Amino acid sequence: MHQNSRNHGPRRPGTRHFSPNTRSSGRNRGVKQTIHPSRFVKTANPALVSDYKSQHSFNDFAIHPILKSNVAIKGYKSPSEIQDKTIALGLEGKDVVGVANTGTGKTAAFALPILNKLLHDRDAMGLIIAPTRELAIQIEEQCRQFAKNSGLSGALLIGGLPMGRQVNALKNHPRIIIGTPGRIKDHVGQGTLRLSGCTMVVLDEVDRMLDMGFLPDVRFLLDLLPANRQSFFFSATLSPGVNDLIKTFTHDAITINVKAGDTSDNVHQDIVAYDGKTEKLDRLHDVLIGERIGKTLIFGDTKYGVERLAKELVARGFKADALHGGKSQGQRQRALDGFREGRVSVLVATDVAARGIDVTDITHVINFDVPKTYDDYSHRIGRAGRAGKTGYALTFVAA
Ligand code: AMP
Repeated sequence: MHQNSRNHGPRRPGTRHFSPNTRSSGRNRGVKQTIHPSRFVKTANPALVSDYKSQHSFNDFAIHPILKSNVAIKGYKSPSEIQDKTIALGLEGKDVVGVANTGTGKTAAFALPILNKLLHDRDAMGLIIAPTRELAIQIEEQCRQFAKNSGLSGALLIGGLPMGRQVNALKNHPRIIIGTPGRIKDHVGQGTLRLSGCTMVVLDEVDRMLDMGFLPDVRFLLDLLPANRQSFFFSATLSPGVNDLIKTFTHDAITINVKAGDTSDNVHQDIVAYDGKTEKLDRLHDVLIGERIGKTLIFGDTKYGVERLAKELVARGFKADALHGGKSQGQRQRALDGFREGRVSVLVATDVAARGIDVTDITHVINFDVPKTYDDYSHRIGRAGRAGKTGYALTFVAA
């Protein structure tokens, strides 16, 4: 019978405890690393993250009392940096480009100005486009909390769910549309959604949208919006493609950059060397029974690999689940809810499925497979060590 302690799994008899600085020696198996492993090693410097002193309080912002009250109910005491620097501009109707990761509080940075406008102008409508279903769901949930008791209604348009219910939601004239590019385009195509009334638009995680090949869909949708509109673009990076989109689709935008650096300063980063498949799994097991481990997000390359690893971990007694594009929307949501609520302590995911995950108490991010780009690496490890807490990122590299 497997034990399932706080550390999620059984001690492997005869194995040593994982120490972040341990390197196992062994034959070089010839596995090619495209990113030099030294880039996966960095000591955390959490002080930098909590240093920010906000210039405003939420009471300073000219937002509707209902929004202020809901912000307080959500427990937000003072604005995060992106909120501090963006909300007033958003309320003035300016176009804003926010260079910020998930976890910085960017949702409230765009949602509060938009909801405020909707409350004051009965003809206004907002459109929020996100690259993944999970992120769209999280944004919709947050908007619902901010807009509680305001009478405002919204529609969530994401793939993987039946069109019928979304069509019904659209018939009720929602003031805010939140969704992923493909499904929003489907609704436009079949005549169930018109975008000509959307006077405010948000593109969230623009860099991810471009990586995922959504550029044609996004351009198609932005072209349908009225010329006289307010735009919010958020991106973790400003690649030439992102800049190009910003230049084409925003007007005199003000750029707010809250990215601290290349990678999160509050994430302690190290590598785990392994020699061969069996040792790789055993090393992972050692990590997962380590002392400081809490909620852990493990990244794998393929749907198949992620599914197999999750099953292997369950067989070893860990509370694990898998999140990847081969699962239905319901299964993905269940895995994510289980992880958020603590029924699952180890979530094994592919990059695409994990994008935008907002789970605040992840202690460890494990790159079981090395990410393809350093940018992917930064996105992955940004999931650990949120809200000023130190997180750990461990990357498995072939010895
Ligand atoms: P986001 O980057 O918008 O996904 O936010 C990341 C997490 O931080 C979410 O769980 C938010 O509810 C939380 N959050 C955002 N702004 C604040 C704030 N000003 N104070 C406390 N928590 C916040």
